[in-house]
Amino acid sequence: MHKTEALQEADRLMTICNACRYCEGLCAVFPAMEKRHFFGEGDLNYLANLCHQCGACYTDCQYSPPHEFNVNVPAAFARLRRESYSTYAWPNFLSGAFERNGLVITIVAALSVAAFIAGFVAFQNPAVLWSAHAGDFYALMPHNAMAALFTAVTLYVILAFAFSLRAFWRDINDGARAGLSAIGRATADTAHLTYLHGGGGGCTSEDEKPSAARRIYHHLTFYGFLLCFAATSVATIYHYAFGWHAPYPPYSLPVVLGILGGIGLLAGPAGLFVLSCRRDPILIDRSSGGMDTAFILMLFLTSLTGLLLLVLRDTNALGILLAIHLGVVLGLFLSLPYGKFVHGLYRFLALVKYAREQKSGTFVE
Ligand code: SF4
Ligand code: SF4
Repeated sequence: MHKTEALQEADRLMTICNACRYCEGLCAVFPAMEKRHFFGEGDLNYLANLCHQCGACYTDCQYSPPHEFNVNVPAAFARLRRESYSTYAWPNFLSGAFERNGLVITIVAALSVAAFIAGFVAFQNPAVLWSAHAGDFYALMPHNAMAALFTAVTLYVILAFAFSLRAFWRDINDGARAGLSAIGRATADTAHLTYLHGGGGGCTSEDEKPSAARRIYHHLTFYGFLLCFAATSVATIYHYAFGWHAPYPPYSLPVVLGILGGIGLLAGPAGLFVLSCRRDPILIDRSSGGMDTAFILMLFLTSLTGLLLLVLRDTNALGILLAIHLGVVLGLFLSLPYGKFVHGLYRFLALVKYAREQKSGTFVE
């Protein structure tokens, strides 16, 4: 007996699938499943985080509803993945609050930070908040104050990720070392989103026709995020290493990277949101809507407010837009360890384990 219904259901389905094995060419889940006779909790969390929820195994399955076996691997794994976010989260008491009210907490956090920053500036001198400063953010909030705020939040997020990833890795791994070739293989699979092909055709959305749309929007989101991260990193190097201070001209490297990343982070999350609304509800774990929606919404708003800040940075709207943008970014950061984002990190570790298992070719007892 497992300790939750989600684990119990995943175990039941993997036992059926292991006897059937019809889907073994679809993704990494089925070859990993075939290496096991029994499924412990670590095994099930490993398999659930290997799954991309493409829907192919539901569409192809002869035992899916209305068959009495009621096999629905994508929905069962989606539920177990959501549960795994809180199982391994640090500190654990926060995960429950985010799980129940993720969307509300994230929005309230963003608005609170925005209101605090705007209020703080207005309290010092209201005219500063509503004046154009030739695009100079630091006229509103000194660079050191901004850097201190983001460093504190970033360190907290890194700490939370470190504890969560260690707990996940310990649970799914048998103590063997990851190995460089397994890490390289997993990095390549992550960069290509290899298993979002759904066995070749792509993911199923509003009908049973596979399409590449979900994979494309995932790519836009993933690379948009990396480009925005690169823009911030380059700007930090400019500031501290060369003494070149913002605002940077439109053709400079941080701005170009930020614009390209921002476009990706507008198109990707918007497309994923539309596809999730159109998806057959039977493929989705509806109880995870709050956190998934919060993550997509905050990514979209981070990009939207960042691009608006760039376009309107020479106007009187600079102060209020900066407060809103910083609030949204900090709200996003604080929610990262407790929602959909951690699936990306767990998935990477699951792919490392998968690469090592496939290379060794041994059976897992
Ligand atoms: S999802 Fe259905 S068809 Fe695929 S392996 Fe499992 S039981 Fe067989
Ligand atoms: S939904 Fe897609 S990724 Fe998940 S187990 Fe089924 S085929 Fe594999």
